Amino acid sequence: MNLLQKRCPWAARRLGAAIFFLREYFFPFGCALCGASLITADETWYGLCCACREEIDAAAGRAGERCDLCGKPLISEHGRCLSCRNGGERAFDRVTVLFPYTGKYRKLLKAYKFSKNLALGHYFAEKIEEVVKDLPGEPDWAIVPVPPRPGKIKKAGWDQVEYLARLLEKEMPVLRCLKRLPSKVQKELNREDRMNNLRGRIVVKQKPPETAILLDDVMTTGSTMDVCAAALKESGAKQVYGLCLFYD
Ligand SMILES: [Zn+2]
Ligand SMILES: [Zn+2]
Repeated sequence: MNLLQKRCPWAARRLGAAIFFLREYFFPFGCALCGASLITADETWYGLCCACREEIDAAAGRAGERCDLCGKPLISEHGRCLSCRNGGERAFDRVTVLFPYTGKYRKLLKAYKFSKNLALGHYFAEKIEEVVKDLPGEPDWAIVPVPPRPGKIKKAGWDQVEYLARLLEKEMPVLRCLKRLPSKVQKELNREDRMNNLRGRIVVKQKPPETAILLDDVMTTGSTMDVCAAALKESGAKQVYGLCLFYD
């Protein structure tokens, strides 16, 4: 498949589409949002029925005002969220969050992450490509996946961010230059404790690109992005942008 991808990306895409079409026929996942049967090749490729795909596209477009630094949806603030205003400098230059993570849109992440609905990866990857096109491009840039906490993969069974990175790699440069050393689980910690928990635990394995675009699935306080961005900048990256599927 990799060789085919290199020699003839068009045929690889058709073969991939056929595999997902057959998979849906024999082991139906249905639309990740409404559960409807998926019929066309496009629907089985994205794991979403046409109507739901159109709806999410529109919802992502009108997600309301976002913090111009961390990408968090703003409620009563303008320009910058309270936590970015009070929290001082961030190491990243800007984070873009792709999808709303409210109500039924939570189903999207659950279907991808926990039910391993890989077709959704195609949808996410395409949306990521659209955002990357709009970021100020430098000649030396690459997507840098946020590394998972050691042990997390064993528990979850697979690495959702790495799977996206592999899809994106077909279209753009991806550099896995970060490594994460063992640390406490972040879930119960606040932003400051998260920063302290992670500091020194993110290691740069090889020279980072001048412009790095950090890729992660869910952003909670932004501290993981922040620590990764700081490590990249200390190792020579000039700009670090962040791309996240959802904001929790
Ligand atoms: Zn649907
Ligand atoms: Zn913010």
